[in-house]
Amino acid sequence: MKKIVSIGFLFFITSLWASQPRKVLIIGIDGLRTDALQQANTPNLDALIASGFYTYESWHEGITVSGPSWSTIMCGVEFPKHGVTSNSYSGSNYNNYPYFTKRAKECLPDLYQVQIVQWAPMSDNVYNDAWDQKIKVCDGCGANSVSAAQTQLQNANLDVMFVYFDECDLTGHSTGFSPLNPAYINAIQTVDGHVGSIMNALQSRPNYAQEDWIVLITTDHGGIGTGHGGNTSTERKIWWIGSGNYPVANQLTGVSDPGSYAMGNHNDVTALGNPSQADIAVTALDHLFRGTECDPFNPIWDLDGQSWLDSLHVEAPVGISENKPKEISIKLFPNPTTDFLSVWFENEKNETIIPLIYDQLGNQVMDFKFTNVNLNKLNIDINKLAKGAYYLTVNIGGNNITRLFTVE
Ligand SMILES: [Zn+2]
Repeated sequence: MKKIVSIGFLFFITSLWASQPRKVLIIGIDGLRTDALQQANTPNLDALIASGFYTYESWHEGITVSGPSWSTIMCGVEFPKHGVTSNSYSGSNYNNYPYFTKRAKECLPDLYQVQIVQWAPMSDNVYNDAWDQKIKVCDGCGANSVSAAQTQLQNANLDVMFVYFDECDLTGHSTGFSPLNPAYINAIQTVDGHVGSIMNALQSRPNYAQEDWIVLITTDHGGIGTGHGGNTSTERKIWWIGSGNYPVANQLTGVSDPGSYAMGNHNDVTALGNPSQADIAVTALDHLFRGTECDPFNPIWDLDGQSWLDSLHVEAPVGISENKPKEISIKLFPNPTTDFLSVWFENEKNETIIPLIYDQLGNQVMDFKFTNVNLNKLNIDINKLAKGAYYLTVNIGGNNITRLFTVE
């Protein structure tokens, strides 16, 4: 009898592990210039945008080359930490700053994680990345990527998948990265079709209704002429899509340029309002770790990104509290503080938020531009503020709420 009970218990535990419901799909589209994406006809990306969080106004904070950019996207840190500054991947520091997939497995060792890439260096030159499978298809062969992804999506135990498409970048290099180039637009529309095929396969999973997938899509850089790697706006302007459960598309606009480590003018405070490439890894970890003991912001990991999971609003469907709206309120902690201030908002109605910080003389000392985005938590680096008392004013949906805090 005792034996039967323990077998039953073991089975229960095993099925819990096997059915980890929180799952991540990241689709990477190499070299997709932001203004060209807006120009192209992309019904499948639009469908993800329709209930999700997105921006066309994010800024690249590193080197606009694939090796360093994808490393930032997958590691959650910028190149001064992951060390990749070129497509040779020399100087890589993945032992200290690995892919998020490695961090995910440190806490959830049973995750099954697969990457499907076309561009070989991303597979061959990356180590310590904890993928269970690294699948490589020929460069530019989007249909092969799709078919590999469809096969993987038939595996009920799949937890994390990264699928990469190179068609836009290849076409940009051969005929021009431009919204006015029909060949480039055509490549974008082809990749959009691939995204649709993958989403169909994802939504056809037998247990899809019981699973909680987050889908994150981004590019590594834009382009100018037939190249990239510089610091022009068309190379640095990037976009970002996260699936969510909003009733309407939730667009982040008015994002200030935080500068970049490549240009030597990176501004940490402005960067808080910029959905950056490093946010993809942190958002993915936050999603996988919710409801577990795992900490997606483990300070030892020294991540640069922030999580946008609360902005995607995947935790609770919108509308639950519509009949009984909570009052808008904010909470600050720690207070007094020395270097860091966390601000929690009750923002059930997804109002526009504009936080400002003033000193006691009424001079504005910090501002942020979060618009049309539901934020429930904001971490503010206040290292640059002198000791003293300050006012944090948050405008939520036209109402100002002010709180005093002290820097010690
Ligand atoms: Zn390229």
